[in-house]
Amino acid sequence: MTRSLSANVMTTRFDKLLGWARKYSLFQYPFVTACCGMEFMSTACSHYDLDRFGAAFPRFSPRQADVLWVVGTISHKIAPVLKTIYEQMADPKWVVSFGACASCGGPYDNYATVQGIDTIIPVDVYIAGCPPRPEAVLDGLLKLQELIQNQKHEWK
Ligand code: SF4
Repeated sequence: MTRSLSANVMTTRFDKLLGWARKYSLFQYPFVTACCGMEFMSTACSHYDLDRFGAAFPRFSPRQADVLWVVGTISHKIAPVLKTIYEQMADPKWVVSFGACASCGGPYDNYATVQGIDTIIPVDVYIAGCPPRPEAVLDGLLKLQELIQNQKHEWK
C-alpha cells in the first residue's frame, strides 16, 4: 500500500501550487510605443507559439492583465500614462522591460526620454537588445515564470 501511494501521489505546498498555476496563466498588457513593437508582434505569432507558456492572449484593459510589457521608448510625456496603467492593474502583477529603450533609454540620452522605466514603476524582468530577438523575449518570459514560481504567493 505504501509503495503504491508513493508511486501515484504527489505532495506539494499550496504556495508552490499557486505559483505553478499562475506562471502558466499570464495575461499580458502590451504597452507598445516604438520599433521594439515589431519584435513583440513576431514573438506573439504562431512560429514562437506563446500558447505553450500559457501567455498567448493579450488583454487591452489593465484591469484584466497581470503582466505589463513595456515595449519601446518612454517619453516623459507618456510616463504618467504608464504609471496610471500600472496602478490600475490588480495584484499580483509583474512588469517586463522590453528592449534597451524601456530599460535605460537606449540610444535616446536626451531631455525627452525616460532613462529606464524603473524610475517610474517596479520592473521584474529586463530584456536586453535593440530590439531583442524573439528568442531573447522567450528567455525573458521563462525568467518571469521562474520568478513567479519561486515567489511567495498570498492567498486571501
Ligand atoms: S530599443 Fe531599439 S528597437 Fe527598441 S524601441 Fe528602442 S530604438 Fe527601437
